[in-house]
Amino acid sequence: MLTGVFFNRILKTNPGPIIGAKFANFPDVLENVLKLPNVKLIENEPVQEELMLRFHTKEMIDSLKTRPYGKNAFYSVGACILASKMVYSGELKNALIFNSASGHHAGPSYAWGGTYINCVAPAVYTLRTTTKARRFSLLDTDCHHGDGDREMFKDDPELLHVCFCNSEYEDHTQTKVCIRTGWNLTDRDYLNLIRLEFIPRVKKFRPEMIFHFLGHDTCQGDYGDIGLTPDFFIELVRELKRCAEEACYGRYLIITGGGSRRDVAEYIFPRIVEILATQ
Ligand SMILES: [Zn+2]
Ligand SMILES: [Zn+2]
Repeated sequence: MLTGVFFNRILKTNPGPIIGAKFANFPDVLENVLKLPNVKLIENEPVQEELMLRFHTKEMIDSLKTRPYGKNAFYSVGACILASKMVYSGELKNALIFNSASGHHAGPSYAWGGTYINCVAPAVYTLRTTTKARRFSLLDTDCHHGDGDREMFKDDPELLHVCFCNSEYEDHTQTKVCIRTGWNLTDRDYLNLIRLEFIPRVKKFRPEMIFHFLGHDTCQGDYGDIGLTPDFFIELVRELKRCAEEACYGRYLIITGGGSRRDVAEYIFPRIVEILATQ
């Protein structure tokens, strides 16, 4: 089965807010992994504005259109929707989505922190209205709390949102959870937290797909440094791919989140594609 790599060329030339120009050398740095027989590079259309108006105010959408990175966001959301459809239908086994300007800090009427429209909410909505899929898990391992995603899904018990940030929270439905990572931990500590706090929850919840908002801002030397090394992100994906295989037929979709270190992006993402594509 195929691994989809969603990269839109606009991300190469248009720096993202906060993350900067970290994708300037993409997709070139993926050259070797893109040669693997079961890896497919996909460019997509931007998301339709009408769909986004279901999730955000018109003011938010209109103001994003005037900003230099506005197109990044619309293409990134389009990628998330297409990838989730292809993974659910079985056309792809799993996917990596290169994302800029959309993501976890975008709530219905307020967005900040480099992400100005939401990407998982329109993907979940599209799947629910066009397929039988209902239950999804969203894992957030960016350094910062996924406030926009939490707001989008707060009344949705069929979406398990587990956010690794710096607070401790669990609602009465046990589907909205925050796990405190602290500010200084080893790769092994974090992986143990994933094994303890995410994997059992997801296995119990039995989603049809796992979305993973993967920020690498938690890496040493980046703006959300909590002590992790670049190799952590590769081990994290290895662990979650295995979890998805056990929980939901391997349906696993990674969306790139925060992190501005270009060298880290260039180191981890080719290796992550290789892991996704390895049987
Ligand atoms: Zn972040
Ligand atoms: Zn959180």
